[in-house]
Amino acid sequence: MRPTFLEVNLAQLKRNLESIRARVAPALLMPMLKANAYGHGLDGVAPFLAPFADYIGVATVEEGVYIRGMGIDKPILVTGGTLPEQLPHFAKFNLTLTASSLDLLRAADHLAESTRTRIRTHLKIDTGMERVGVRDTESESFLEASLQCKHLDIEGIYSHFANSDSADLTHAKLQLERFNEVLRFYEKRSLPKPRLVHMANSGAILQLPESYFNMVRCGILLYGVHPTREAARMNEVQPALTWRSRVVYSKITPPGRPVSYGSLWQAERPTRIATIPCGYADGYFRRMTNRARVLINGKPYPQVGRICMDQFMANLGDDPAEVGDEAVLLGDGITADDFAEWMGTNAYEVLTGIGARVPRVFVRE
Ligand SMILES: *Cc1c(COP(=O)(O)O)cnc(C)c1O
Repeated sequence: MRPTFLEVNLAQLKRNLESIRARVAPALLMPMLKANAYGHGLDGVAPFLAPFADYIGVATVEEGVYIRGMGIDKPILVTGGTLPEQLPHFAKFNLTLTASSLDLLRAADHLAESTRTRIRTHLKIDTGMERVGVRDTESESFLEASLQCKHLDIEGIYSHFANSDSADLTHAKLQLERFNEVLRFYEKRSLPKPRLVHMANSGAILQLPESYFNMVRCGILLYGVHPTREAARMNEVQPALTWRSRVVYSKITPPGRPVSYGSLWQAERPTRIATIPCGYADGYFRRMTNRARVLINGKPYPQVGRICMDQFMANLGDDPAEVGDEAVLLGDGITADDFAEWMGTNAYEVLTGIGARVPRVFVRE
Protein backbone atom coordinates (compact mmCIF):
# COMPACT_ATOMS: atom_id res chain seq x y z
CA MET A 1 0.00 0.00 0.00
CA ARG A 2 0.93 3.62 -0.43
CA PRO A 3 3.16 4.88 2.39
CA THR A 4 1.08 8.06 2.51
CA PHE A 5 -2.19 7.58 4.36
CA LEU A 6 -4.58 9.22 6.73
CA GLU A 7 -5.06 7.49 10.06
CA VAL A 8 -8.52 8.25 11.42
CA ASN A 9 -9.16 7.52 15.06
CA LEU A 10 -12.83 6.56 15.28
CA ALA A 11 -12.72 6.24 19.07
CA GLN A 12 -11.68 9.89 19.25
CA LEU A 13 -14.58 10.91 17.02
CA LYS A 14 -16.92 9.11 19.37
CA ARG A 15 -15.42 10.84 22.40
CA ASN A 16 -15.86 14.19 20.63
CA LEU A 17 -19.47 13.35 19.87
CA GLU A 18 -20.12 12.40 23.49
CA SER A 19 -18.50 15.61 24.77
CA ILE A 20 -20.65 17.69 22.44
CA ARG A 21 -23.74 15.74 23.45
CA ALA A 22 -23.03 16.37 27.12
CA ARG A 23 -22.62 20.05 26.40
CA VAL A 24 -25.82 20.55 24.40
CA ALA A 25 -28.13 18.06 26.20
CA PRO A 26 -31.05 17.65 26.04
CA ALA A 27 -30.74 18.90 22.44
CA LEU A 28 -30.32 16.19 19.80
CA LEU A 29 -27.19 15.83 17.66
CA MET A 30 -26.91 16.01 13.90
CA PRO A 31 -23.32 15.16 13.01
CA MET A 32 -22.44 16.72 9.66
CA LEU A 33 -20.94 14.05 7.41
CA LYS A 34 -20.73 16.15 4.26
CA ALA A 35 -17.58 16.49 2.18
CA ASN A 36 -16.40 12.96 2.88
CA ALA A 37 -16.93 13.52 6.62
CA TYR A 38 -14.79 16.66 6.53
CA GLY A 39 -12.12 14.70 4.71
CA HIS A 40 -12.00 11.92 7.31
CA GLY A 41 -13.53 9.31 5.01
CA LEU A 42 -17.26 8.67 4.88
CA ASP A 43 -16.79 4.93 4.35
CA GLY A 44 -15.40 4.46 7.84
CA VAL A 45 -16.96 7.39 9.68
CA ALA A 46 -20.61 7.02 8.63
CA PRO A 47 -21.18 3.38 9.69
CA PHE A 48 -19.25 3.95 12.90
CA LEU A 49 -20.99 7.16 13.99
CA ALA A 50 -24.51 6.54 12.67
CA PRO A 51 -25.64 4.54 15.74
CA PHE A 52 -24.72 7.50 17.99
CA ALA A 53 -26.36 10.16 15.81
CA ASP A 54 -29.94 11.38 16.13
CA TYR A 55 -29.88 12.74 12.60
CA ILE A 56 -27.22 12.84 9.87
CA GLY A 57 -26.42 16.02 7.93
CA VAL A 58 -25.01 16.14 4.39
CA ALA A 59 -24.74 18.89 1.80
CA THR A 60 -25.75 17.09 -1.39
CA VAL A 61 -28.27 14.53 -2.53
CA GLU A 62 -25.42 12.31 -3.76
CA GLU A 63 -23.94 12.19 -0.27
CA GLY A 64 -27.30 11.19 1.15
CA VAL A 65 -27.83 8.49 -1.46
CA TYR A 66 -24.31 7.19 -0.81
CA ILE A 67 -24.98 6.86 2.92
CA ARG A 68 -28.26 5.07 2.23
CA GLY A 69 -26.26 2.71 0.02
CA MET A 70 -24.29 1.71 3.11
CA GLY A 71 -27.49 0.44 4.68
CA ILE A 72 -27.75 3.28 7.19
CA ASP A 73 -31.37 4.06 7.99
CA LYS A 74 -31.01 7.10 10.27
CA PRO A 75 -32.76 10.23 9.03
CA ILE A 76 -30.53 12.25 6.68
CA LEU A 77 -30.98 15.98 6.07
CA VAL A 78 -29.64 17.40 2.80
CA THR A 79 -28.79 20.97 3.76
CA GLY A 80 -27.67 22.35 0.42
CA GLY A 81 -29.76 23.90 -2.30
CA THR A 82 -31.80 21.41 -4.33
CA LEU A 83 -33.05 21.59 -7.91
CA PRO A 84 -36.66 20.53 -8.50
CA GLU A 85 -35.50 17.67 -10.74
CA GLN A 86 -33.58 16.18 -7.81
CA LEU A 87 -36.74 15.79 -5.74
CA PRO A 88 -37.52 12.19 -6.77
CA HIS A 89 -34.33 11.07 -5.01
CA PHE A 90 -35.69 12.40 -1.72
CA ALA A 91 -38.73 10.22 -2.10
CA LYS A 92 -36.83 7.20 -3.34
CA PHE A 93 -34.04 7.25 -0.74
CA ASN A 94 -35.99 8.68 2.17
CA LEU A 95 -33.85 11.79 2.44
CA THR A 96 -35.01 14.90 4.25
CA LEU A 97 -35.48 17.93 2.04
CA THR A 98 -34.40 21.44 2.94
CA ALA A 99 -37.33 23.48 1.64
CA SER A 100 -35.57 26.72 0.91
CA SER A 101 -38.21 28.39 -1.25
CA LEU A 102 -41.96 28.39 -1.74
CA ASP A 103 -41.56 26.94 -5.25
CA LEU A 104 -39.48 24.03 -4.01
CA LEU A 105 -41.90 23.39 -1.16
CA ARG A 106 -44.83 23.24 -3.57
CA ALA A 107 -42.95 21.08 -6.08
CA ALA A 108 -42.10 18.68 -3.25
CA ASP A 109 -45.72 18.58 -2.11
CA HIS A 110 -46.88 17.75 -5.65
CA LEU A 111 -44.29 15.04 -6.04
CA ALA A 112 -45.19 13.59 -2.66
CA GLU A 113 -48.82 13.50 -3.69
CA SER A 114 -48.17 11.82 -7.04
CA THR A 115 -45.69 9.27 -5.65
CA ARG A 116 -47.62 8.73 -2.42
CA THR A 117 -44.50 9.23 -0.32
CA ARG A 118 -44.43 11.66 2.57
CA ILE A 119 -41.20 13.48 1.89
CA ARG A 120 -39.64 14.58 5.16
CA THR A 121 -39.07 18.29 5.01
CA HIS A 122 -37.30 20.97 7.03
CA LEU A 123 -38.21 24.59 6.32
CA LYS A 124 -35.15 26.80 5.83
CA ILE A 125 -35.26 30.36 7.07
CA ASP A 126 -32.60 32.82 5.99
CA THR A 127 -31.96 35.07 8.98
CA GLY A 128 -28.83 36.73 7.66
CA MET A 129 -26.65 34.35 5.69
CA GLU A 130 -28.19 35.40 2.34
CA ARG A 131 -27.47 32.02 0.81
CA VAL A 132 -30.47 29.69 0.60
CA GLY A 133 -33.70 29.94 2.52
CA VAL A 134 -36.71 32.18 2.79
CA ARG A 135 -35.79 35.49 4.38
CA ASP A 136 -37.24 35.97 7.85
CA THR A 137 -39.00 39.10 6.63
CA GLU A 138 -40.86 37.03 4.03
CA SER A 139 -41.33 33.91 6.07
CA GLU A 140 -44.92 34.36 7.13
CA SER A 141 -46.46 33.46 3.76
CA PHE A 142 -43.97 30.60 3.45
CA LEU A 143 -45.00 29.12 6.78
CA GLU A 144 -48.67 29.68 5.90
CA ALA A 145 -48.14 27.77 2.67
CA SER A 146 -46.35 24.98 4.50
CA LEU A 147 -49.49 24.40 6.57
CA GLN A 148 -51.29 23.55 3.34
CA CYS A 149 -48.72 20.99 2.19
CA LYS A 150 -50.61 17.95 3.33
CA HIS A 151 -48.45 15.44 1.53
CA LEU A 152 -45.17 16.41 3.17
CA ASP A 153 -43.96 15.49 6.61
CA ILE A 154 -42.87 18.94 7.76
CA GLU A 155 -40.74 17.77 10.57
CA GLY A 156 -38.29 20.62 11.08
CA ILE A 157 -37.50 24.29 10.72
CA TYR A 158 -34.03 25.75 10.79
CA SER A 159 -31.66 28.59 10.07
CA HIS A 160 -27.90 28.97 9.70
CA PHE A 161 -25.41 31.36 11.27
CA ALA A 162 -22.96 33.42 9.23
CA ASN A 163 -20.83 34.57 12.17
CA SER A 164 -21.31 32.34 15.18
CA ASP A 165 -17.57 31.63 15.26
CA SER A 166 -16.45 35.25 15.63
CA ALA A 167 -15.39 36.99 18.80
CA ASP A 168 -18.03 39.59 18.00
CA LEU A 169 -21.44 37.93 18.27
CA THR A 170 -23.56 40.95 17.36
CA HIS A 171 -24.65 39.59 13.98
CA ALA A 172 -25.16 36.06 15.30
CA LYS A 173 -27.41 37.37 18.06
CA LEU A 174 -29.38 39.39 15.54
CA GLN A 175 -29.89 36.24 13.46
CA LEU A 176 -31.05 34.34 16.53
CA GLU A 177 -33.50 37.10 17.41
CA ARG A 178 -34.90 37.01 13.87
CA PHE A 179 -35.30 33.24 14.02
CA ASN A 180 -37.12 33.44 17.33
CA GLU A 181 -39.42 36.02 15.81
CA VAL A 182 -40.16 33.69 12.87
CA LEU A 183 -41.01 30.89 15.30
CA ARG A 184 -43.62 33.09 17.00
CA PHE A 185 -45.74 32.40 13.90
CA TYR A 186 -46.76 29.14 15.53
CA GLU A 187 -47.43 30.56 18.97
CA LYS A 188 -49.56 33.34 17.54
CA ARG A 189 -51.75 30.74 15.86
CA SER A 190 -51.59 28.30 18.75
CA LEU A 191 -50.10 25.76 16.39
CA PRO A 192 -47.38 23.31 17.34
CA LYS A 193 -43.96 24.08 15.91
CA PRO A 194 -42.35 21.49 13.66
CA ARG A 195 -40.85 18.82 15.88
CA LEU A 196 -37.21 19.74 15.19
CA VAL A 197 -35.98 23.31 15.53
CA HIS A 198 -32.29 23.85 14.92
CA MET A 199 -29.77 26.56 14.21
CA ALA A 200 -26.46 25.93 15.98
CA ASN A 201 -23.32 24.97 14.07
CA SER A 202 -19.93 24.48 15.76
CA GLY A 203 -19.40 28.18 16.44
CA ALA A 204 -22.79 28.42 18.13
CA ILE A 205 -22.25 25.18 20.06
CA LEU A 206 -19.18 26.88 21.51
CA GLN A 207 -20.57 30.36 21.99
CA LEU A 208 -24.38 30.55 21.87
CA PRO A 209 -26.16 28.04 24.11
CA GLU A 210 -29.39 30.00 23.65
CA SER A 211 -29.38 28.79 20.01
CA TYR A 212 -29.44 25.05 20.73
CA PHE A 213 -33.27 24.71 20.46
CA ASN A 214 -33.82 20.95 20.29
CA MET A 215 -31.07 19.91 17.90
CA VAL A 216 -27.59 21.11 16.92
CA ARG A 217 -25.68 20.50 13.70
CA CYS A 218 -22.11 19.73 14.65
CA GLY A 219 -19.56 19.88 11.90
CA ILE A 220 -15.92 20.70 12.42
CA LEU A 221 -16.08 20.43 16.22
CA LEU A 222 -17.04 16.77 15.93
CA TYR A 223 -13.71 16.27 14.20
CA GLY A 224 -11.95 17.92 17.14
CA VAL A 225 -11.09 21.12 15.28
CA HIS A 226 -12.30 24.60 16.19
CA PRO A 227 -14.04 26.72 13.55
CA THR A 228 -11.79 29.75 14.10
CA ARG A 229 -8.93 30.71 16.35
CA GLU A 230 -11.00 33.44 17.96
CA ALA A 231 -14.01 31.30 18.93
CA ALA A 232 -14.34 30.04 22.50
CA ARG A 233 -12.55 26.72 22.98
CA MET A 234 -13.76 23.37 24.17
CA ASN A 235 -10.86 21.35 25.47
CA GLU A 236 -12.76 18.07 25.63
CA VAL A 237 -12.57 17.61 21.86
CA GLN A 238 -9.40 16.51 20.11
CA PRO A 239 -8.44 15.99 16.47
CA ALA A 240 -8.82 12.44 15.19
CA LEU A 241 -6.47 12.58 12.19
CA THR A 242 -2.85 11.71 11.66
CA TRP A 243 -1.57 12.15 8.13
CA ARG A 244 1.37 9.81 7.79
CA SER A 245 3.99 9.14 5.18
CA ARG A 246 7.56 7.92 4.90
CA VAL A 247 10.80 9.12 3.44
CA VAL A 248 11.20 7.68 -0.08
CA TYR A 249 14.50 9.34 -0.88
CA SER A 250 17.29 10.98 1.11
CA LYS A 251 20.34 12.82 -0.16
CA ILE A 252 22.82 15.58 0.66
CA THR A 253 22.15 18.59 -1.57
CA PRO A 254 25.01 21.05 -2.17
CA PRO A 255 24.70 24.84 -2.57
CA GLY A 256 24.16 25.93 -6.18
CA ARG A 257 21.68 23.10 -6.91
CA PRO A 258 18.22 24.54 -6.26
CA VAL A 259 15.51 22.15 -5.15
CA SER A 260 12.34 21.48 -7.21
CA TYR A 261 10.32 23.35 -9.86
CA GLY A 262 11.00 27.01 -10.24
CA SER A 263 14.26 26.73 -8.28
CA LEU A 264 12.74 28.66 -5.40
CA TRP A 265 15.07 27.38 -2.71
CA GLN A 266 18.68 26.28 -2.47
CA ALA A 267 20.97 25.17 0.32
CA GLU A 268 23.61 27.54 1.69
CA ARG A 269 25.81 24.61 2.64
CA PRO A 270 25.52 20.87 2.04
CA THR A 271 22.31 19.80 3.69
CA ARG A 272 20.16 16.67 4.03
CA ILE A 273 17.05 16.74 1.84
CA ALA A 274 14.37 14.07 2.30
CA THR A 275 11.64 13.44 -0.25
CA ILE A 276 8.11 12.62 0.98
CA PRO A 277 5.71 10.95 -1.47
CA CYS A 278 2.79 13.32 -1.04
CA GLY A 279 1.94 16.44 -3.00
CA TYR A 280 -0.69 18.92 -3.99
CA ALA A 281 -2.75 16.25 -5.75
CA ASP A 282 -3.15 14.78 -2.26
CA GLY A 283 -4.19 18.08 -0.73
CA TYR A 284 -0.70 18.97 0.47
CA PHE A 285 -1.23 22.25 -1.26
CA ARG A 286 1.32 24.02 -3.40
CA ARG A 287 0.68 27.32 -1.72
CA MET A 288 2.34 25.94 1.44
CA THR A 289 5.65 25.89 -0.43
CA ASN A 290 8.57 26.97 1.78
CA ARG A 291 6.14 27.53 4.67
CA ALA A 292 5.06 24.09 5.89
CA ARG A 293 6.70 21.98 8.57
CA VAL A 294 6.84 18.19 8.66
CA LEU A 295 7.83 15.76 11.42
CA ILE A 296 10.45 13.25 10.39
CA ASN A 297 11.31 10.68 13.04
CA GLY A 298 9.32 12.87 15.42
CA LYS A 299 11.28 16.08 14.84
CA PRO A 300 9.95 19.12 12.94
CA TYR A 301 11.72 20.25 9.76
CA PRO A 302 10.93 22.95 7.20
CA GLN A 303 9.45 22.00 3.86
CA VAL A 304 11.66 23.44 1.10
CA GLY A 305 11.38 23.95 -2.64
CA ARG A 306 8.14 24.01 -4.57
CA ILE A 307 5.64 21.35 -3.48
CA CYS A 308 5.07 19.05 -6.48
CA MET A 309 1.95 17.18 -7.51
CA ASP A 310 3.04 13.91 -5.89
CA GLN A 311 6.06 14.70 -3.72
CA PHE A 312 7.67 17.36 -1.57
CA MET A 313 11.05 17.87 0.02
CA ALA A 314 12.10 18.71 3.58
CA ASN A 315 15.36 20.14 4.85
CA LEU A 316 16.92 18.13 7.66
CA GLY A 317 20.13 20.14 7.87
CA ASP A 318 22.78 17.95 9.51
CA ASP A 319 20.31 15.33 10.74
CA PRO A 320 20.20 11.89 9.17
CA ALA A 321 17.24 10.36 7.32
CA GLU A 322 16.95 6.92 5.79
CA VAL A 323 14.57 5.69 3.15
CA GLY A 324 11.54 4.35 5.03
CA ASP A 325 11.81 6.75 7.99
CA GLU A 326 8.51 7.94 9.38
CA ALA A 327 6.99 11.27 8.52
CA VAL A 328 3.94 12.97 10.03
CA LEU A 329 2.43 15.73 7.94
CA LEU A 330 -0.58 16.54 10.12
CA GLY A 331 -1.15 15.48 13.73
CA ASP A 332 1.25 14.92 16.63
CA GLY A 333 1.34 18.66 17.26
CA ILE A 334 0.95 19.88 13.68
CA THR A 335 -2.63 21.12 13.49
CA ALA A 336 -5.14 21.86 10.77
CA ASP A 337 -4.84 25.48 11.95
CA ASP A 338 -1.10 25.37 11.18
CA PHE A 339 -1.90 24.16 7.67
CA ALA A 340 -4.54 26.88 7.37
CA GLU A 341 -1.99 29.51 8.28
CA TRP A 342 0.55 28.19 5.76
CA MET A 343 -2.17 28.08 3.11
CA GLY A 344 -3.90 31.35 3.91
CA THR A 345 -7.25 29.64 4.53
CA ASN A 346 -9.24 28.00 7.33
CA ALA A 347 -9.15 24.54 8.87
CA TYR A 348 -12.30 23.51 6.96
CA GLU A 349 -10.58 23.88 3.61
CA VAL A 350 -7.52 22.02 4.91
CA LEU A 351 -9.55 19.01 6.08
CA THR A 352 -11.89 18.82 3.11
CA GLY A 353 -8.97 19.32 0.76
CA ILE A 354 -7.18 16.12 1.76
CA GLY A 355 -7.26 14.27 -1.53
CA ALA A 356 -9.27 11.24 -2.52
CA ARG A 357 -5.96 9.59 -3.45
CA VAL A 358 -4.88 9.41 0.21
CA PRO A 359 -6.13 6.11 1.68
CA ARG A 360 -8.06 6.45 4.94
CA VAL A 361 -7.10 3.90 7.57
CA PHE A 362 -9.62 3.64 10.40
CA VAL A 363 -8.36 2.75 13.86
CA ARG A 364 -10.21 2.50 17.16
CA GLU A 365 -7.49 3.98 19.37
C1 LIG B 1 -21.62 22.53 7.22
C2 LIG B 1 -22.85 22.96 7.92
C3 LIG B 1 -22.91 22.93 9.31
C4 LIG B 1 -21.74 22.58 10.19
O1 LIG B 1 -20.88 23.69 10.29
P1 LIG B 1 -19.63 23.64 11.28
O2 LIG B 1 -19.18 25.04 11.35
O3 LIG B 1 -18.63 22.74 10.65
O4 LIG B 1 -20.14 23.10 12.57
C5 LIG B 1 -24.12 23.24 9.90
N1 LIG B 1 -25.19 23.60 9.16
C6 LIG B 1 -25.15 23.66 7.83
C7 LIG B 1 -26.37 24.05 7.08
C8 LIG B 1 -23.99 23.35 7.16
O5 LIG B 1 -23.95 23.41 5.82
